[in-house]
Amino acid sequence: MTSLRQKALELTLERKPVIITASKKTSDYYGMLVFDDSKMQKYLPKEAYLAIKGSIDKGSKIDNKVADMVATGMKAWAIEMGATHYTHWFQPLTEGTAEKHDSFMDPIGGGKVIENFSGKLLVQQEPDASSFPNGGIRSTFEARGYTAWDPSSPAFIMDDTLCIPTIFISYTGELLDNKAPLLKALAAVDKAAVDVCHYFDKDVQKVISYLGWEQEYFLIDTALFDIRPDLVLTDRSLLGKGSAKNQQLEDQYFGTIPERVQEFMKELEIEGYKLGLPLKTRHNEVAPNQFEVAPVYAECNLAVDQNLLTMILMRRIAKKHNFKCVMHEKPFKGVNGSGKHNNWSLGTDTGINLLQPGKNPKSNLIFLTFLANVFMAVYKYEDLLKASIASAGNAHRLGANEAPPAIISVFMGGQLTKMIDSIVAKLTDHKMSASEKTELKLDIGRIPELILDSTDRNRTSPFAFTGNKFEFRAVGSAANCSSPMTVLNTAMASTLVEFKKEVDALITKGTSKEDALLQIIRKFFTESKPIRFDGNNYSDEWKAEAKKRGLNDEGMVPKILELWNTPKAKKLFESMKVLSNVELEARTEVKHELFIKKLDIEAKVLTDMVMNQIIPVCIDYQTSLIENVKGLKDIFGESGMKEIAGNRIELIKEMSTHITSAKKLVKDMEAAIEKVHGTSHAKDGSIMMATKVSPYFEQIRDHIDALEGIVDDAKWPLPKYRELLFIR
Ligand code: ADP
Ligand code: MG
Repeated sequence: MTSLRQKALELTLERKPVIITASKKTSDYYGMLVFDDSKMQKYLPKEAYLAIKGSIDKGSKIDNKVADMVATGMKAWAIEMGATHYTHWFQPLTEGTAEKHDSFMDPIGGGKVIENFSGKLLVQQEPDASSFPNGGIRSTFEARGYTAWDPSSPAFIMDDTLCIPTIFISYTGELLDNKAPLLKALAAVDKAAVDVCHYFDKDVQKVISYLGWEQEYFLIDTALFDIRPDLVLTDRSLLGKGSAKNQQLEDQYFGTIPERVQEFMKELEIEGYKLGLPLKTRHNEVAPNQFEVAPVYAECNLAVDQNLLTMILMRRIAKKHNFKCVMHEKPFKGVNGSGKHNNWSLGTDTGINLLQPGKNPKSNLIFLTFLANVFMAVYKYEDLLKASIASAGNAHRLGANEAPPAIISVFMGGQLTKMIDSIVAKLTDHKMSASEKTELKLDIGRIPELILDSTDRNRTSPFAFTGNKFEFRAVGSAANCSSPMTVLNTAMASTLVEFKKEVDALITKGTSKEDALLQIIRKFFTESKPIRFDGNNYSDEWKAEAKKRGLNDEGMVPKILELWNTPKAKKLFESMKVLSNVELEARTEVKHELFIKKLDIEAKVLTDMVMNQIIPVCIDYQTSLIENVKGLKDIFGESGMKEIAGNRIELIKEMSTHITSAKKLVKDMEAAIEKVHGTSHAKDGSIMMATKVSPYFEQIRDHIDALEGIVDDAKWPLPKYRELLFIR
């Protein structure tokens, strides 16, 4: 057997679980590495503590004097915890996070140093903006950019470094990251939802958007992973014949967690708890070697940071257990890919979940109001929601009969749908009589029991109501949740503003508040009806039906990315003060560029593997077959040999066909890529990548996977699917 694969297999088979034991109970160390409320109370003067609370609760500004006090307190705590450095932790328009570490150390002359950290350093830092994607903003404006402290997400310690969550902006104020627009979207939905809540309850002062993510991932043994260039460089397998057994027996989901994996999960939880990550659920997923982790939900901005931090921890801790943690959306052909479900709800500072029916008709009316607004928001902006999750990695899942179909729709469940339709039918556009109202109230009052009863869950829906929250299931596993959460919350904010405008217009004309609300609820439910779909989202009937309903059915990622760049998108984001036209255009450009770069890398890796790793091995094996046939001919003569070795001659021919075809396709693909590089607009380039380059991937793969089925297993250089996916 090829020595590298042999060695990797031996290593993998000999692995023992790395046993992890927690020395204390969780509550004794939970959040020890976070500058959370209790540390703020201990390390900050009261004035600074209250200022931060105000900033978290009301978004109020923090002045320089307070910033200095906070910096002093944070430094004292961080140094006590053994930190020597600090960094602004931010989320550029790539998939991950970025950081630039500086030491607290400051020379004071005479060969002495002190630990220094001021409010100025806490509030602002200047990383080189030109090293991060900006979609052309720099050339039109200024090269410099800066990071600015986000007090609403707590600082934390990783290794020896105090990490301060920040936003990243250009010197002229354009947003260059994923966090800043999210914060603006959250502020917009807060304001719009509070205004609507005031129809029901004047005490509501804040509406909080909540996110509970579920992160899917694969664990692959490092020894096997490291000798596959495709996995190392692109996080997905570009080649590989399916394993005889994959997920068809459905014996993996919720099965016993393998011991090595269990120890990884334990350590992830322990380290996560130290960082205040409320990791709650762990289990196997559908595909072999695929797992999931989910926390208790949190305020959206915090939850996004927690997800990014969890992803960092997962990659690091996996290494200690000799695993690679793969969060690509489709690392293996023929088995499920990985998503990141985004569970979302809105709640008030008075403790009401606005997406949960209450105990009486009044609170159910609040529920119906917000439900009608969610339907309308998703209906109006379904295209943008799809754009928010589109990426090169997610392209392999979109519309491919798993998690996200290429058409966005909302699932409500049969009983609740019936009830809503019945309520809508009972609503009128005139003043209702007392008996009409009583009947309606009875219906509205019955909603909670319906939800409790309705256990049917449609796994094919991209946006499903699950009792007291919506679950957006189309998000990619490697993605930053900011993008979908920014779109969803902005769409909701704009819809709520529209709702209030219409209700107020009726009230001004003399309609009672309750009737006005009911009329607009009816209008929203009726208008948004096309977005509701409870059937099988993967079926061809739905595709035809959705077309009739006028829903966006675009499945090609570059074209979906263009949906960021429409007059409709610009109007939404500008009116809600979330992103300007320039910023939207820049973002679209960055997304196209990222798409091109990813496919370009994949094509190069594929070329290398085919030409330098696979074909030489195939030719060697073919040569040995030829030698064998020649030998047989020497012994048995031409006609005798044909009888015994006929199938070997066929194999030699078959191999030649695959080798020649694969080589030709690789050459053709290279020529197609040249053309992509010749385009002057990122949009044209990415469309060309999707239409002219990407089809070669599968065609080349088909030939190589066929060769994998012919060549002596001992000679095949790459770890096979059965090894990658089943050994642990
Ligand atoms: P399932 O896999 O059945 O969908 P999980 O328990 O794996 O459910 O995940 C559900 C997720 O939804 C968790 O992250 C949980 O914290 C989150 N969640 C629960 N209630 C809410 C809510 N009101 N708002 C937002 N997220 C929520
Ligand atoms: Mg779920």
